[in-house]
Amino acid sequence: MKIVDEYFACDVFSLAAMQKYLPNVVYKQMVDVMENGKELPKEIADTVANAMKDWAIDKGATHYTHWFQPMTGSTAEKHDAFINPAGPNRVISDFRGKELIKGEPDASSFPSGGIRSTFEARGYTAWDPTSFAFVREKTLYIPTLFCAYNGAALDKKTPLLRSLDAINKSCLRLLRNMGYDVHKTDVTVGPEQEYFLIDENVYKERLDLVVTGRTLFGSNPVKGQELDDHYFGSIEKKVKAFMDEVDEELWKLGVYAKTEHKEVAPCQFELAPVFSSVNLANDQNQIMMSTLQRVAKNHGLVCLLHEKPFDGVNGSGKHDNWSISADGLGNLLDPGKSPKDNIRFLTILAAIIKGVDEYQDLLRLCVATAGNDYRLGADEAPPAIVSIYLGDELSAILEAIEKKEEYEDTITRKLKLGVSSLPQISKDSTDRNRTSPFAFTGNKFEFRMLGSALNIACPNTFLNTIFAEEMDYISDQLENMEYEDVDEACEKIIRRILRQHKRILFSGNGYSEEWRQEAKERGLLELQTTADALPHYTDEKNVALFKKHHIYTFEELQARESILLDNYSQVTRIEGKTMIHMLRKQILPAVFKYEESLANIIRTKRSVGLTASIEEKILFNINNPLEQIGQHMETLEELLSKTQSSSVEKARFCADELIPVMKTIRQLTDEIEKNVSKEFWPIPDYNDILFKSMI
Ligand code: ADP
Ligand code: MG
Repeated sequence: MKIVDEYFACDVFSLAAMQKYLPNVVYKQMVDVMENGKELPKEIADTVANAMKDWAIDKGATHYTHWFQPMTGSTAEKHDAFINPAGPNRVISDFRGKELIKGEPDASSFPSGGIRSTFEARGYTAWDPTSFAFVREKTLYIPTLFCAYNGAALDKKTPLLRSLDAINKSCLRLLRNMGYDVHKTDVTVGPEQEYFLIDENVYKERLDLVVTGRTLFGSNPVKGQELDDHYFGSIEKKVKAFMDEVDEELWKLGVYAKTEHKEVAPCQFELAPVFSSVNLANDQNQIMMSTLQRVAKNHGLVCLLHEKPFDGVNGSGKHDNWSISADGLGNLLDPGKSPKDNIRFLTILAAIIKGVDEYQDLLRLCVATAGNDYRLGADEAPPAIVSIYLGDELSAILEAIEKKEEYEDTITRKLKLGVSSLPQISKDSTDRNRTSPFAFTGNKFEFRMLGSALNIACPNTFLNTIFAEEMDYISDQLENMEYEDVDEACEKIIRRILRQHKRILFSGNGYSEEWRQEAKERGLLELQTTADALPHYTDEKNVALFKKHHIYTFEELQARESILLDNYSQVTRIEGKTMIHMLRKQILPAVFKYEESLANIIRTKRSVGLTASIEEKILFNINNPLEQIGQHMETLEELLSKTQSSSVEKARFCADELIPVMKTIRQLTDEIEKNVSKEFWPIPDYNDILFKSMI
């Protein structure tokens, strides 16, 4: 039996490994870089590179790679061997500081959204010493940033690191204005990862799953999730073996994989790590996703990370638990026990409320993808309308502050108005509403709109920037106010913010139709599709926000908008083409054969004077939708051959023209499937996928 404490993080170039392989002075400088955000002294690069190489070779590595997160949303790597020629038939293993610090992959095919044209395609990777290098499959992985020759960010990580500087600065400023002596903040994130596991053989027979990650056809299985018997159910042996291997791999890589359970839909699971600093949480979530996919193959399974692989059962999300702490104060979103903690907590809470209300569009658009559109707003995931859930107790306290009234707490202690007498908020009273997109859950906010496949860098970049902006707003107010007691001054600001922004607070059922109506009356945004959401990237107020905090230049924002819009259009078009291919090559020929066999039976029966009413009825039920499919398929083919000029037009075209036709075709095909013999149906159906995978 291996003991986890002994091998945890053994494949990471951790502080312990650094201490062992680096001279003491250099080790201390590295700690300063990693823990205190100091800049890396150039002269130590060679020493660090050499130590990293020695450590990696001791771990069996032969190659190294700069590991980065381009705007495709996944990770990228290009492996180089450590070897260097050292005379005839001789090599030495070598790795220099300059190779560690900067890489120059000829990565011209990554999307840049026009930031660089292919003839000047140089993209650079730059070592991020604040994240840990690790060894996987004989390769040293070095976390890096990816940028163009002019420094423009071509990746997801660079803006995230910029946003950490921004929120650190703004949060320290606010806390100092409130009288705290603080020097450093830490944004913490715990991303809960949902996924499906299905049988590899079944998967291979479905072109739609292989090519698009989701099923484009499939009538409902005989049983869905209505019995809620999968949720938290006991885990099958096969899956347990898979999870054990995943855990071991992740623990070796220093990932705090902690909680795993069955989710609501058949074949659906969740893996949640213990939270960590967002930079690390981001890299580790990427490691977690790739590990889930790789390990599944060892068990004859496939891990689906798509947000909505199956119609009619829940899709997969990724809850982004977000909080911020400061040195000496701990978690700033912990309401705490003393009145002093309360006012600090409420001030930061007010900044968050204001930020979420003012930048609803950004929170919606940072989770917008073709796949997530099938999930958001369906009866399973938070709606496409952004709102905040605070729980009854906290809502009542805020209401009392806003109205300058007395607050009566649950054990009916009457309290004088004012935050200085705020009671301790019990953790349990806050986590009941699962329908809210942005919920306070005791000591953190849980942003629930993210789809399971999403890279968490962008949502966290946005959260950090928005809250930095609002913390600055409160600091501006405080710095320009005359006051004797800072707590009272904060209380006044909180009251003003609540009066202006309380429309964003909602505790009811986010899935209900009434809420959509009410949200509209409150003036909240409902951006239904990715095509509706993404163009807000370059709204004037958003450009100003990101520019002010040095997160994205206008050019970088424009690039992201067009890359993501194009991705949406391409994904949709590929789905359209896959649909037609499967219909023409597999489904229709099978249906024709079944029709023929039915027609033969009908003819035979009639010739001997029998009726064939059931056969006729089934044939009719098939033929009716089949006739309609013919027309819609032609329309889809015609639409797919059309071109539009701009990225916005392409995306709009997909949302307004392509997707509705595809939905109709799917409905008709699913109708046919219900009436066609299993023997004739050419691809595994939902019953095969969702119920036989686990046997
Ligand atoms: P639930 O499934 O009820 O949402 P879990 O306990 O499964 O709750 O997940 C909660 C996630 O929130 C975990 O990843 C946990 O580590 C994380 N979390 C807890 N405290 C914080 C914090 N201060 N900052 C960020 N994330 C946190
Ligand atoms: Mg959760």
